[in-house]
Amino acid sequence: MPTESLLDPAGAIYRHTIRAGDPWSRVLRAGQILRITDLEGNQAADTLFYDAHDPENRYSASDTIRHQAALYLTTGSVLRSTRGDALLTIIADTCGRHDTLGGACSRESNTMRYAHDTLHMHACRDSFLRGAQECGCALGKRDITCNINFFMNVPVTPEGKLTFADGISAPGRYVELRAERDVLCLISNCPQLNNPCNAYNPTPVEVRIFEG
Ligand SMILES: [Zn+2]
Repeated sequence: MPTESLLDPAGAIYRHTIRAGDPWSRVLRAGQILRITDLEGNQAADTLFYDAHDPENRYSASDTIRHQAALYLTTGSVLRSTRGDALLTIIADTCGRHDTLGGACSRESNTMRYAHDTLHMHACRDSFLRGAQECGCALGKRDITCNINFFMNVPVTPEGKLTFADGISAPGRYVELRAERDVLCLISNCPQLNNPCNAYNPTPVEVRIFEG
């Protein structure tokens, strides 16, 4: 359900624009609040979270879905780790729905879904690995697991199939998450050009961090 934030955007202690196709990473301390804003609309922000002190305890799509008994994320969703711990809670959301199932694009999946000549296009899996290297946080290929796609619309059909549909986000829509422990956040601002997750035109997203 769409819910507005109570925070003054000008009160952020950190602000950064993630360019289209770029990665970003940062540790959030317990209690801090992360706002991700879809600046131009219809952009997918592929995101992973890890316990900052124990990265093997990481965001788990299946545990999150099971705990909340719902497929999509929105205000009130608690993001659970592989050990069932609460990593973050969504406290505001003006988009209304975020995907847990679609996963991240990779060069390999692009060649399967689209055509072999997409092999050399930028993809989230590579961006995640680049972001992990840039943050010096000792994450490798095995740590890039099932991610959240903020702002991405992946409806499940009555037959149980996944579809990558046109987005429901719009310019300026945001999601806000409160860290329930110290968490490492890794974002790939999706560079995908072959399906409508970015409206075939990847655009920047903004991150702001607030003290709780
Ligand atoms: Zn992607």
